[in-house]
Formats: sequence, C-alpha cells, structure tokens
Amino acid sequence: MGRANSKEPSEHALYMRKWRAMHPEYSEYQKQYQRDYLSNALRREAATRRASEYYYNNKERILKEQKDRYVPHPRQHPTGAEHPMWAGDDAKYAAIHAWVRRYKGTPSSCEHCGRKSGRLQWANKDHEYRRLLEDYIRLCAKCHYRYDVDQGLRPAMDPSAAGRASQKARKKRLP
Ligand SMILES: [Zn+2]
Repeated sequence: MGRANSKEPSEHALYMRKWRAMHPEYSEYQKQYQRDYLSNALRREAATRRASEYYYNNKERILKEQKDRYVPHPRQHPTGAEHPMWAGDDAKYAAIHAWVRRYKGTPSSCEHCGRKSGRLQWANKDHEYRRLLEDYIRLCAKCHYRYDVDQGLRPAMDPSAAGRASQKARKKRLP
C-alpha cells in the first residue's frame, strides 16, 4: 500500500506495460488514431473558419438572397379593403368601437369560451352598431368570427373553419 507516495509503478501499470509489449500493433493503432483525430479536428476547424469568412465576406449578398427567397405565409383572413367589415362605413365602425371601449373598458375575458388572453374584442350583437352599450359583448377573435357567421352577419371565409355550430345554423336558415 502507500501507492500515492511511492515512485514504484502500480501492479496495474506493470501489467499494462507487459500487455503492450505483447501487442505492439495496439500501440501502433492508438498512435494512428490520435494522429487521425488531431488532423480531423484541424480540418473541421479550418472548414468552420472558411465558412465564417465566406459568410462575412458575402454577408450582404447572402442576406439579400435570403430576403428574395422569402415567401410570406398566405393570409388566412382578408385584411384592409378586402375585409368584409371594411366595405361601407368603416370609419363609423372604428368610431363606435372606440366609443364602446371608452365606456365599457378593455374586454377582460371571452363571454363564450372564457379565454382571458389573446385578441379580445367587443362584438356587436346584430351589426347595427347602435350606441347601446348592451348591444356589445366580449368575445375573443375566434368566438367573434364564429358568432358572426352563426348569426349570418358575415360569410364564412372557409366553411370547414367555421365549425359544426355554424354549419348547423346555416342548415336551419335554409327554406
Ligand atoms: Zn372565445
């Protein structure tokens, strides 16, 4: 015992020395492995350096090409003049919503699904947009859309997205 202080090689070290002497091909293999490992590491490092140099030297062109290739995600809902609410009296629509918000505050949860986050809106019950505070209910964007479609206040943009409730409602309204 007392290995830590002794200069004598351990039993295991002596065994390994003997073992390596009996298997010279192993030492050769180990040396080659180390050489390969180092040269591969150098190759990898050089490749990374070349790539980053290439990027910094051609940054503007690369970024421009990326920008040119970019295709925006197709919009699910029309906006601006394409939007059904835009046609007609959109100034009145915006003004009445500002009025509702002023008197009833910012909606805090959806009256249909109870959701408290995301886009919450004051929905007009019949799209007459009267200055009657009880005509406005809090709905999230999804329930608002569904409500309007169900009430026949706006066409379904995509019938499959309108859901079962609105499909039932549409069937009911058929003569
Ligand atoms: Zn909702």
